[in-house]
Amino acid sequence: MRLGELRGFVFDLDGCIWAGSVLLPGVKEFLACLRQRGKRLLFLTNNSRELPESLATRLNRLGVEASSREVLTALELLGKAISQRFGRTDVLAVGAGAMGQVLEAEGHRVVPVERWKEARVVAVGNDPTFDYVKLKAAAQAVARGAGFVTVNLDPRLPLEEGEFDPGAGAIAEAVAVASGVRPLVIGKPNPVIFKAALERLGCEPHEAAMVGDSLNTDIRGGAEAGMVTVWLAAADAKADSAFHPRLRVASFPELLARLDDELR
Ligand SMILES: [Mg+2]
Repeated sequence: MRLGELRGFVFDLDGCIWAGSVLLPGVKEFLACLRQRGKRLLFLTNNSRELPESLATRLNRLGVEASSREVLTALELLGKAISQRFGRTDVLAVGAGAMGQVLEAEGHRVVPVERWKEARVVAVGNDPTFDYVKLKAAAQAVARGAGFVTVNLDPRLPLEEGEFDPGAGAIAEAVAVASGVRPLVIGKPNPVIFKAALERLGCEPHEAAMVGDSLNTDIRGGAEAGMVTVWLAAADAKADSAFHPRLRVASFPELLARLDDELR
């Protein structure tokens, strides 16, 4: 497979472009090379707290050229996904950052936790203030028949030096266990978000690569969408998943070297 013949490249953010507040080695050089060759770029993230504007600003601050149109977040799709299934409704939001804003912008009403009985839908994102009170409210609402959606099921949010924050998936799974109901996942690997990414990119699936560190979200979703998949994984990482990438690389410098080799 020749990377240089692809028209578009989609990149995961957490654990791929950056870890916490640190850019991964070789990211800047590889992205600059793609831009130089006129490739289309998109950053596709399961982030449940931030909107494209703030993520583009974070990329820019780290020295990576990116516009907000080049960032697509799972959070952006949340409000509409709820409307399509449940109409404009009353939502108990277990989340933080821009989640409430996104729901209200779509015409939903955000229900305070103590009035959980009014919720018709429970929406989960990452929430650093998650506690037993929220778990109880969300689980009881779902057990009584409220819809249950989560921005993602990611177990972890990778930080610097191998540390991590628990992901939205850790919270959603707690609600799922207590309520006995599985959530609808909005973000990767849901095919809807990959379709949106390809539309934004203006590429057919086979013309674009999905580059990411998660086999169960990036590689699974990219492959199911018909994209070329590139798994960014440490040399000693075990492929403990049913989903396999087209190409496995240990780093961005390795990807850049592959691209350069194709020209020789
Ligand atoms: Mg990742």
